[in-house]
Amino acid sequence: MKIIMLGAPGAGKGTQALMIAKKYNIPHISTGDIFRANIKEGTELGKKAKSYMDKGELVPDELVVDLVVDRLGMDDAKAGYVLDGFPRTIPQAEALDKALESVGDKVDYAIDIAVPDENIISRMSGRRACVSCGGTYHIVNIPPKKEGICDVCGGKLILRDDDKEETVKNRLSVYHKQTQPLIDYYSRKGILKSVDGTCEMEQVFKSITDILG
Ligand code: AMP
Repeated sequence: MKIIMLGAPGAGKGTQALMIAKKYNIPHISTGDIFRANIKEGTELGKKAKSYMDKGELVPDELVVDLVVDRLGMDDAKAGYVLDGFPRTIPQAEALDKALESVGDKVDYAIDIAVPDENIISRMSGRRACVSCGGTYHIVNIPPKKEGICDVCGGKLILRDDDKEETVKNRLSVYHKQTQPLIDYYSRKGILKSVDGTCEMEQVFKSITDILG
């Protein structure tokens, strides 16, 4: 099963993608996580990506596409995957389709998690991320067992630069301009499924599994 997650930043894509990956036993491939890992390791790619990410802008397509295509070619992705944060532009979606078509493959579902902008801003200011493993929490909705500490690895939890309010506003406008057109793109292909992302996390997951089976 090959799944793409769509939705504004903060709509809950990452959380739902992780739950899908676990239930269907497929890898969770997050371009944001890949960039953050590169930033942490101080790679050239990380340095380039950081300058865009800190401003809430998208990393240029040419830095993203090959990275994802290579990752999808790995053995663990043969039976399926859930892509979180990619594609984010029409050229990325077209490049993905082309790469998949060349091996006789295609995306099965594009799942859009719909959440209005006003909910997004308040959600993201409460978001906390682990500096060590990248795990995400929310001070109200998904609090860690111990304040400021990651449940999984004991790392410190911080407000990511790209979750700060000004950056979130910019990310939302970038989303509407560059990523929202993908909803039409996948709708035209007949694989778009939309779920109400304002419900409780478990309810959103149920709507998704009702679709995926
Ligand atoms: P995320 O964790 O998916 O919200 O991604 C965090 C940031 O990484 C985004 O705001 C972008 O700057 C960058 N990023 C992640 N995925 C992509 C992508 N597919 N295309 C361009 N930039 C991306």
